[in-house]
Amino acid sequence: MTALGRYLSGTRIGCADLPGEEAKLLYGPIINKLSKTLVGTMPEKLDVAIVHTMNRYSEISRIADRPVLIYDRYAGQLLNTLTRILYWSQDVRTSNRFFSKVFAEQAILAGDLTGGMAGALAHVQFQKFWNIRPAGSDARVSLRVRLQEVFIFAHEFAHAMMTASEEFQKSTRAIGDLLTEPRDGPKDRGAYKFFQERYPGRQTFKQWKQLGEAEDAFVTDHRELLRDEVGCDDFALHMTLVTCLSMDESPEYAFEAAFLALRNIRALAYIRRDANPASSKLPHQNTTEFRLLQVRQHRLRDAFRSVAAVYSIEKALDGFWAKLQDLSDLHDRQIDYPLLATTLSSFKRVRRQLMKDKAVSQVRDVFEVAEWLGWDPAAKSVNYVLL
Ligand SMILES: [Zn+2]
Repeated sequence: MTALGRYLSGTRIGCADLPGEEAKLLYGPIINKLSKTLVGTMPEKLDVAIVHTMNRYSEISRIADRPVLIYDRYAGQLLNTLTRILYWSQDVRTSNRFFSKVFAEQAILAGDLTGGMAGALAHVQFQKFWNIRPAGSDARVSLRVRLQEVFIFAHEFAHAMMTASEEFQKSTRAIGDLLTEPRDGPKDRGAYKFFQERYPGRQTFKQWKQLGEAEDAFVTDHRELLRDEVGCDDFALHMTLVTCLSMDESPEYAFEAAFLALRNIRALAYIRRDANPASSKLPHQNTTEFRLLQVRQHRLRDAFRSVAAVYSIEKALDGFWAKLQDLSDLHDRQIDYPLLATTLSSFKRVRRQLMKDKAVSQVRDVFEVAEWLGWDPAAKSVNYVLL
């Protein structure tokens, strides 16, 4: 086994065999585009390994003194399923089926087999409510999924590039600095009027203004971290837009995809946190992780403007902001609300009940749980494809 293979098998749980050719077909063209964009900056020593693991987590590691980007395609599968739920789910039990599976996997990874069992049993119960078509049955939905994958992949790739090339790091940070500069507004009554018209009675002007100020203070305190994240988001947005335009599609799809990718990753973070009994008990919205994602989303809107200017497609943003707000509301209704208000709280309850059950508290083997999730134990080892 190679050093990378040993590292992966020691840190991850594989959950499906990786079809090598398919991964090459999917990511090969993206890497080609990236190499063309980064001509002169692209370091020779940067490996990209595609894996498919329950961790649903990408990382940059150093193996045998070479930086390697480990990109987890199972995260892409999450973008796929959440997007189909977003547009097509008509019954909260449909989304519960998927959320419970992810909850079970994340609990297992956190070493909590009882939580894993709670999720797995719920998953089985909700099985019959699953009636969502494959993304491939609708060209618009499959385009939206594809572009989100490009965004997430390019974001991770940018992080890897930052560790491999000083020049790239400098330019990405410069953009990140610009996008995290303290802003003068919008804290005025005019901007509040827009908000109030859309969401009457949700916040008073004072509350609304205070939230804006709290975010500014948070940005100031976390600028070091944020500038890298926002800089990589900006790079990923360029790549998503280039991909979208090369397919002769409206640039709106690229902007939407970047926005949705961050919202979907946030949903995964909600589950990951609640599935781990060791997580802090703070409400989600008060943790640094969520506030970072929140700020990234807000600053993404500034990146839309600057990227649109670079490609001279400012007109694409006319009327786009209201559509983006509709999309955000749809995501609240279809994903975040059912996830936070029903699924996660009921799992915590089920977990408490199960802990009292002797048969369940004696579950000692991951595969006892995994069987309920329809997992193939033979896929336990982690395969990878090097691009
Ligand atoms: Zn990042």
